[in-house]
Amino acid sequence: MTTITELQAAEMQCATAENMGMSISVSDDVPEDQRESAEAEKAVAFADLDEYLVAFVPGEKCPRCDSNFADLGSFFWGIANGEGFCSQCRYPVRVCHKTKKGWTFERILAYHPSVLCTPESENNEAEER
Ligand SMILES: [Zn+2]
Repeated sequence: MTTITELQAAEMQCATAENMGMSISVSDDVPEDQRESAEAEKAVAFADLDEYLVAFVPGEKCPRCDSNFADLGSFFWGIANGEGFCSQCRYPVRVCHKTKKGWTFERILAYHPSVLCTPESENNEAEER
């Protein structure tokens, strides 16, 4: 089993709104004279989202064991609200998200290895599996 330390050394890509396929569109209903400010708000929202997503890896698969989080039973909830783990290898994920500007969404995202602590005991535990 891949350790957190090995995943950190792999320099994985961070999630972004673009590589996660997230989108926001300015509705056709928005009057012409308000479109410019709506587009500006959209740009701010995307920048906020990208800043938030740096702490996660793109895609729906566990970076450690490749389990697909879209499959039923692929993760279980932890004791902290909105947090969980991969059901196969216990890699930490977050499901309930809130950006700095207060945008919220729900999606199973695996933490980026660079934001994880790696106590020696965790590495030993991972290697035993
Ligand atoms: Zn896993």
